[in-house]
Amino acid sequence: MKVAVYNTVRGGTERFRPYADKYDNIELVAIDCPPTLETLDKLKEFGCEAMIYTSDHQEGEEFFKKIAENGVRYVCCCCTGYDHFNISAMKKYGLKGANVPYYSPNAISEHTVMLVLAALRHFRTQILNVEHGNYQLAGLMGREIRNMSIGIVGAGRIGYVTMQCLSGFRPGKMYAYDPFPNERVKEYAQFTTLDDLYAKCDVIIYHAIYNEKNHHMVNAEAIRKMKDGVILINVSRGGLFDTDAVLAGIESGKLGGVCLDVIEGEGILKKQKQYDICPISSLSKLLAHPNVIFTPHAAFFTDEADSNMNETTIENLESYITTGSCDKEVVKG
Ligand code: NAD
Repeated sequence: MKVAVYNTVRGGTERFRPYADKYDNIELVAIDCPPTLETLDKLKEFGCEAMIYTSDHQEGEEFFKKIAENGVRYVCCCCTGYDHFNISAMKKYGLKGANVPYYSPNAISEHTVMLVLAALRHFRTQILNVEHGNYQLAGLMGREIRNMSIGIVGAGRIGYVTMQCLSGFRPGKMYAYDPFPNERVKEYAQFTTLDDLYAKCDVIIYHAIYNEKNHHMVNAEAIRKMKDGVILINVSRGGLFDTDAVLAGIESGKLGGVCLDVIEGEGILKKQKQYDICPISSLSKLLAHPNVIFTPHAAFFTDEADSNMNETTIENLESYITTGSCDKEVVKG
């Protein structure tokens, strides 16, 4: 079966080639333009019955109707998030869809540990100072993890691995909050309420899945409940944090540091190769403070994670092609 890969998929067909080459029934077709209403006809032109599709936004019904009309039955994304799948439209036009629900929690957890250490040791200030010829130690006194109480909000797959990684540093105490507590987390952390975690922790890490119930769970009221000087780390989804409230917390000194791998409205950041002025004004204001660190949604991006994503995407396609179904299916067309 021919599988279309439009040029908006990072790495294009080459990324999937080593895994696709294992199967005689998969032929990757590189389509050198973005998928739009105007370019979806190429699916029919090349005879594709499946496509690998990722996007930072969701298209309307017409887009998925055209995909189906052009002969595609299976739409696979090579990532976990599938909010770009218009599920009702896909179902209406009989398109099945699958994602990669997990690939390497360690990738995200190790990035998180890096951010915790960077915040505790004023790493951004050290880099900035040295780049400006300042080799003094003023303002650089760090803190040690063994003296910290660390809170993990969202103790699922990634939350658990972060605790596992952090445990090597022997933190003073680890607390976890999750509405669906998982027994194995107790190996490393004590479950508590969110308010208690806020009252006790010096570093709070957010690994919770994002949904409409926890939209802006870190807002002015939540920040008020936290310890003075607390460090916040968000490696989950931007929508968990009310960025303006976080900015106010940094400006007032209530927050000792903030590390973000994600931020609301981040879709725009990768639209251009480079920006002279940061297109998210709250991010630009945050970055004026050296105790704020931002990484561009890069926590997942390791060689291991990438190859696992590519392999699972191809396995999903192979399963669809041979059986018409897939155990990672998220849209039952
Ligand atoms: P998971 O489903 O295993 O765990 C998420 C946990 O969040 C669950 O245990 C759930 O009960 C909990 N949760 C739900 N609502 C909550 C709330 N209000 N407060 C606290 N906990 C809550 O998912 P995972 O694989 O651990 O991934 C977690 C998140 O990490 C994903 O949803 C994704 O948004 C994010 N992520 C980020 C990157 C990155 O590169 N930055 C990469 C992969 C995943």
